[in-house]
Amino acid sequence: MCAKILDGKWVREQILSELKPRVAAVTAKHRPPGLAVILVGHDPASEIYVRGKIKACGELGIYSEKITPPESISTEELLGIIEGLNQRGEIDGILVQMPLPKQVDSRRILLSVRPDKDVDGFHPVNVGSLVANIPAPRACTPAGIMELLRRYEIPISGKKAVVVGRSDIVGKPMALLLLHQSATVTICHSKTANLPDECRRADILVAAIGRPNFVTRDFIQPGAVIIDVGQNRGADGKGLIGDVEAVAALELASAYTPVPGGVGPLTIAMLMSNTVQAAELHVCSG
Ligand code: NDP
Repeated sequence: MCAKILDGKWVREQILSELKPRVAAVTAKHRPPGLAVILVGHDPASEIYVRGKIKACGELGIYSEKITPPESISTEELLGIIEGLNQRGEIDGILVQMPLPKQVDSRRILLSVRPDKDVDGFHPVNVGSLVANIPAPRACTPAGIMELLRRYEIPISGKKAVVVGRSDIVGKPMALLLLHQSATVTICHSKTANLPDECRRADILVAAIGRPNFVTRDFIQPGAVIIDVGQNRGADGKGLIGDVEAVAALELASAYTPVPGGVGPLTIAMLMSNTVQAAELHVCSG
């Protein structure tokens, strides 16, 4: 078997081109959608991510604002910045780039973003909506993976899905989104016994572990769809390596998201989608 490549860039382009008329409509009706991105300090990886987000806003006609408090900021000071953004009518989405410095209470920060402006989908109110399958901003990476599966017409209902990883930003929301599409879902993590056996049962295997090439051929049922979320830096600090051994996936899977070029491009596209959606709701209600 030679796996079909699931091209995240192609899906991203589709998502972004569908957003353009929606941005134009909101702008014509009222004002451009607005996203505020808070980047504390100078973490090089965070700076790259934030640059990508601001660039995507510019290309779509979304107003963006980058706020760059110093590394030494306190929790109270950051809460003050977020409260200001919560109040501003022209800001539809607020994104706090993680990780935050140690002295900042990330949980309080997360809770302080108004749920209707939480375009990352991390606020407990939005997580509750996800659990209850009520419309609300969804975590961007898992939402992007669902878009990719949908646009490649990969059947989910009745399939066995195994998600390796139980983080709040990828694994858990991924599992819930697959469950809502009627997959039979297993969530695995570092304490799972017989992990390769669990994974080999999967028709759809999602690897969100953060360990390069961790998923080898023993984990893969021939014909499975493999979604590799991993974005691991190579030994030289350059290049990206997935959580799944690419050769094994290409040989055994029916379809596979490569790294780079698979899941990676979808996250920012879904952030844009969440921002536009928030703006549409704000413009309607305002
Ligand atoms: P976390 O570190 O928060 O979570 C990793 C998960 O993997 C944990 O649940 C952990 O289990 C599990 N895990 C770790 N080691 C093992 C093991 N040996 N066996 C089984 N499970 C294991 O990572 P994230 O969820 O934030 O990210 C996962 C990967 O996805 C990373 O490579 C990250 O870079 C990438 N990523 C990519 C994005 C994109 O845009 N493409 C966006 C976000 C993340 P336990 O809970 O028991 O510790």
